Amino acid sequence: MNHYVLVLNCGSSSLKFSVVNPDNGDEPFKGIAERLNTNETGSLTIKTANSKQQTDLTPSTHEQALLEIVQALKNQGLAESISAVGHRVVHGGEYFSQSVVIDDSVRDKIADCIRLAPLHNPAHVTGIDAARKAFPNLTQVAVFDTAFHQQMPEKAYLYALPYELYQRHGIRRYGFHGTSFRYISAQLPQCLGIEKPKAVVCHLGNGGSLAAIDGDHSLDTTMGLTPLEGLVHGTRSGDIDPAIPTLLCQQNGMTPDSVSDLLWKQSGLLGLSGISNDCRTLEEALEQGNEAAQRAMHVYCYRLAKLIAAQVVALGGLDALVFTGGIGENSSYVRSQAVKALGFLGLHIDASKNDATIRGKQENIASAESLPIWVIPTNEEWLIAHDAHQLAQGKTL
Ligand code: AMP
Repeated sequence: MNHYVLVLNCGSSSLKFSVVNPDNGDEPFKGIAERLNTNETGSLTIKTANSKQQTDLTPSTHEQALLEIVQALKNQGLAESISAVGHRVVHGGEYFSQSVVIDDSVRDKIADCIRLAPLHNPAHVTGIDAARKAFPNLTQVAVFDTAFHQQMPEKAYLYALPYELYQRHGIRRYGFHGTSFRYISAQLPQCLGIEKPKAVVCHLGNGGSLAAIDGDHSLDTTMGLTPLEGLVHGTRSGDIDPAIPTLLCQQNGMTPDSVSDLLWKQSGLLGLSGISNDCRTLEEALEQGNEAAQRAMHVYCYRLAKLIAAQVVALGGLDALVFTGGIGENSSYVRSQAVKALGFLGLHIDASKNDATIRGKQENIASAESLPIWVIPTNEEWLIAHDAHQLAQGKTL
């Protein structure tokens, strides 16, 4: 059998990997290489059905991590079963509206998108180069977070900036989490019994974004040029008055780099609470009456409700609301607080179904009089494996 796909998600200092069965999503081998390209010793953790192994990684590079992953796959007898490599790529700009087989020209376009995603795409290019070396005989496929949103209408993707900035530099809204949104949109017809439903899907994780999904594409989404825009995130600010960065530089002596650090790494739930970016930690603090946690979670849930209502405008109607991602799949608190503000849209939660739907359960948590409100666990790895497998076999998506 020659059937698994190796799914790679390369960050600047980490490489997450998973061997995925494209038919059923099973992952017999997965793990993470961490502290890559840092001054610290790198580590490689590999989990299989009955083992977990952690080893040091020297040198701590993407290339070395892939060499050791190849060796571990051989030791497990899995190397021969891998038929393709699927790469998660954050930014595909306007080049890519679907997944593609990677050749030199695709690789160069992903490199060109570094100007749009300087925090993410450099690591993807490093990972692609290393994987093409490590697996020279396998088809390599890129799956883009931005691709699902490429059919958004112009009115949704343009910023009210001089039009030339879009024409010359591609400054526009792209949207992210597209792989997750596409996976969810594929589940919805069966959940709802509607062929092309209109749904607002909330992917709530460390980064959070919403999409107005019309059948198999999005009409609007809350992230923009970068994954900083939109909802309050774990450590990122989400929407703020665009005058704030300039003001911080002019009046508080901050530099562009320090403002960027503040907006990406010190804001969001962490900045508001001063406690943590982790929703679980904040919920625990909230239960103990912690005011800072309360403040952060109140802002989060209010902004979430406002953004859900705004996405309904893009759809011009609503068949269902959907929650996914670590917070969306697990936090009954966030779901109930956000939906509480949305009764005017015909959305009402059933409290006991809501409380029972955690840890990977898929359920409609709406009350009898409400429009459907689904919790659907996302599976981005499976979709990446599916696309890589299809394209490696020369099939269309
Ligand atoms: P993700 O980026 O999709 O992995 O999601 C990470 C977020 O999900 C973090 O903020 C976690 O605190 C949150 N999360 C995971 N499990 C739970 C839970 N049981 N209750 C609340 N939040 C959770």
